[in-house]
Amino acid sequence: MSHRVAVALLAASWVLAGCAQPGASSEGGKLAVVTTTSVFADLIENVGGDRVTVTALVPHHADVHTFQPSPADVRAVAGARLLVMNGLGLDDWLRDTIVNASAAGTPLVELGTGLQGVELLPGEEPGTQNPHLWMAVPYAKGYVAEIEDALVRADPANADAYHQGASAYRTRLDALDQKIRAEIGAIRAVDRRLVTFHDAFPYFAREYGLEIVGVAVEAPGQDPSAAEIAALIEAIKAAHVKAIFSEEQFPTQLVDQLAASTGAKVVAQLYDDSLGDAPVTSYEALMTWDVDQLVRALS
Ligand SMILES: [Zn+2]
Repeated sequence: MSHRVAVALLAASWVLAGCAQPGASSEGGKLAVVTTTSVFADLIENVGGDRVTVTALVPHHADVHTFQPSPADVRAVAGARLLVMNGLGLDDWLRDTIVNASAAGTPLVELGTGLQGVELLPGEEPGTQNPHLWMAVPYAKGYVAEIEDALVRADPANADAYHQGASAYRTRLDALDQKIRAEIGAIRAVDRRLVTFHDAFPYFAREYGLEIVGVAVEAPGQDPSAAEIAALIEAIKAAHVKAIFSEEQFPTQLVDQLAASTGAKVVAQLYDDSLGDAPVTSYEALMTWDVDQLVRALS
């Protein structure tokens, strides 16, 4: 048995025995929650309000798919009373971080993996699923329900507050969903086609009636081959795609090359895996920003 596994089992048995977990922190009596991306942090803060302190491990401008946690991230995980990730290959590095932090007994919620009633779409590698479920607002509401349950389990004394926070947030997300349907629906059907940098929009597209003609990179961190780029250029031309979207956390040279080769325009960045600078400082603002960019480019 490796040292790491032994430590993890020891931590797990400690919690099972009902003892307080060593290192569990609650700043000012607040529930310490650690998650991977700033998007999930915003969902958690909307449900938890001022009863939680939320840490997102992946900074803005960094790529969650290829992220490598630092020793400070390991310490943050060790101090958490609740851990929240997506799963489905987006942020699986958190599991190694948990082992390194001896946080095996800390409750871990996998929002994407746990979502009920979802038909998952295929991921980049054979046998995998695309993890970007939150880009469809109805699925984000599912994430909110899972977060609500997890906060109540971790901190039952504040259950009423978590239920109220989740309920109020769901009402706002319903309004956001209706707004997106109306705005995308106003784009001519023949123009509802796009190319994105990485494959973050298939659930968004399925939900709101868009067609993803192609993605610039199949897997973040892997550059496409010359043949793949040539095939994508042909697909963009054949489908008369008006716009190619770049993303903040990825370099733009490839997208610029695709645009120059096809006559499609490059549109200001879309956001998906991470929040950004103002005004993209919340999940609702992220979705509103993306839809505004899409409508402007495709109308
Ligand atoms: Zn992604």
